[in-house]
Amino acid sequence: MDGALEVLLDTGSFTSMDFDGVQLPVYTPSQKARCLLDLVRSKGEQAANVLLQYIKRKEERSSSSPQEEWTPPKECLLYQKKLRSSVSAQSYFLSTNGRTGSQSLDDIYIQGHLELAQTSSEAQAQSGPMELKDVLGMLGTVNQEADTVLVCGEAGSGKSTLLQRLHLLWARGEALHDFLLVFPFSCRRLSSVKRELSLKELLFLHCCWPDGDQNQLFQFILDHPHLILFTFDGLDELKHCFSDLEQGHCCPTQCAPIPTLLFNLLQGFLMKGVRKVVTSRPEVVGPGLRRYLRKEVHLKGFSTRGIDCFVRKHHCDPTVATRVLESIRSNTALLGLCHIPVFCWIVSKCYKELLGCGDAEGSPQTITDVYLMMLQHLFQRQETQRNPLDIGWLQEHQETTLRLGQLAKEGLEASCYIFTSTELQRCGVTEDDICMGFLSLSKDLSSLRNCLHYEFLHVTLQCFFAALFIVLTPNMERSTISQLFQSKDWQQQPSFPRACLGHCLAWQDVALKEAAMTAEMPNIQITATFVSGLLSHRHHSLLLLSCPGNILDRKVKHVVKCLSKGMQKHFKSIPQPVDEEKKSMHAMPGFVWLIKCIYEMQESKIAKNTMTKLDIEHLKLTYCNIGPVECTALSYVLQHLRNPVGLQLDYNSVGDVGVEQLLPCLHVCHS
Ligand code: ADP
Repeated sequence: MDGALEVLLDTGSFTSMDFDGVQLPVYTPSQKARCLLDLVRSKGEQAANVLLQYIKRKEERSSSSPQEEWTPPKECLLYQKKLRSSVSAQSYFLSTNGRTGSQSLDDIYIQGHLELAQTSSEAQAQSGPMELKDVLGMLGTVNQEADTVLVCGEAGSGKSTLLQRLHLLWARGEALHDFLLVFPFSCRRLSSVKRELSLKELLFLHCCWPDGDQNQLFQFILDHPHLILFTFDGLDELKHCFSDLEQGHCCPTQCAPIPTLLFNLLQGFLMKGVRKVVTSRPEVVGPGLRRYLRKEVHLKGFSTRGIDCFVRKHHCDPTVATRVLESIRSNTALLGLCHIPVFCWIVSKCYKELLGCGDAEGSPQTITDVYLMMLQHLFQRQETQRNPLDIGWLQEHQETTLRLGQLAKEGLEASCYIFTSTELQRCGVTEDDICMGFLSLSKDLSSLRNCLHYEFLHVTLQCFFAALFIVLTPNMERSTISQLFQSKDWQQQPSFPRACLGHCLAWQDVALKEAAMTAEMPNIQITATFVSGLLSHRHHSLLLLSCPGNILDRKVKHVVKCLSKGMQKHFKSIPQPVDEEKKSMHAMPGFVWLIKCIYEMQESKIAKNTMTKLDIEHLKLTYCNIGPVECTALSYVLQHLRNPVGLQLDYNSVGDVGVEQLLPCLHVCHS
């Protein structure tokens, strides 16, 4: 390019303005070439001849002299070394190990089940299991022009861990050989950046600071986009919806708000040619982003064999591992749950509690049971003398639970997942509470801002603490529970001291607030699921020690009413059948969530009452993200249907374990 431009200038085909115009830093190399060709065409025959002659000479010269292997400039190699060591340090340990564990990612990593979104299951079966390398490979590419790969999965399905694995392998030179530089970003961390940034600042301030000449290195990045990879973890935590109305921004040196930078990068307006991998929960990705995707990959958690490997890796003592696995296999509901890595991790971590539960009946059946087990585990970790039948443990740690619960709830209301020490203090969280191990130190942000920052070990744990706070606080407003189950107005509560979570966005902008609501939806639903589970009869005696019985009863009634109302709303939307057709209901994902809440309550009366009101002949549950966990809940509720139905479950990930879970309801399914 440089040579061609000089010849065109020397021969007078180009003016110096033409010359500078092509060299503008906003252009990527391919855009520069396009611009040069357009200009040559507009200049006519003579300019075209000059260019062709130049190319011909260049070709002759390169064919007569042997090709030298290209090596990146020294500046760039030095930066790569620094970036590699920083990425390696960040990805070596799993964040869930927090203060307590020391297992490295290598020791514990299991490949999760990956599926292409756009390929039929037969084609997937033919091409064999998808591997980690395929995330960035050619397999399943639907749009060659696009640069962005989306990895979708539910909370806890292992999205962050998958990226972490990719980062670590790159840092060691064991994968992603095509990429010279990999820049990892966490949307959670980026969310707390309020000031406008240029792309250069984004890369160097947030990933790795160059020791040498910044401008030279940045120019190299602009000139070689195909050698660069950006990863963005947790797009759903960005508090900003992707939309086409987004301000266009294509200049790498100009400052812009983080969401503008990010969306322009993903769409390819900025840094076209740089490959990007972004992870998100499925609910939050709209058609606006899908149009710009190279491919979409679904992460479905562990296979049954994966669970086996995970537990064996987690426990170095094979006898313990075998006992844990026996315990999991003997309880199909728990086996279903363990397909989600975060639950599998908790179950393996709390193995003493699990093995102490006795028979399958007493061992965890619901997600709430699993998280209560984790709560007990971390609270009683230091105690040498433990009585497994003692139910006073929650009451003993009630103060800590409420303090962390308040922090969690207020955080969710403001879409805030990272907390400063000041915010912790405001909720009364003490050093001892921190030492319990529910929070982990967010190291990179703490060093960047010179102030300690904390986050819950996993977002689902934050939801669990928020649910505990809602259930255990005696004077919790009635409307809080209603809002939770309607998944609306959650972030408008007047009681919420929004200004206190300083680094989180203030929702002055209505569009921003709506975007945040959409992003927060999955967390609100998880919290509601936990509230249902905690108010289950199974945990009544445990909670009774911490909250008066009449208040708990009132909350139970309220939740049951909310669930029943929610189901009625779905039933009302069923269209009347036309002529000979069967009465059919096409369930929305919200329907499956309500069913999961009913299952968490473990109250067959509620399931019965609700289902007897459903009068249909066909239930269509296609594309509802149904895995083994959902099958357990579906089966629990659907077995109470009055009339037999046809059950349609295509385009989900039911699997063998899911089918097994469905057995109790198959007698009401005529097809
Ligand atoms: P997500 O980002 O989808 O919410 P994470 O990647 O944070 O899920 O996973 C939650 C936890 O589950 C991790 O911290 C880890 O303990 C466990 N986990 C997830 N994926 C894997 C994996 N592939 N191998 C081993 N453990 C995993």
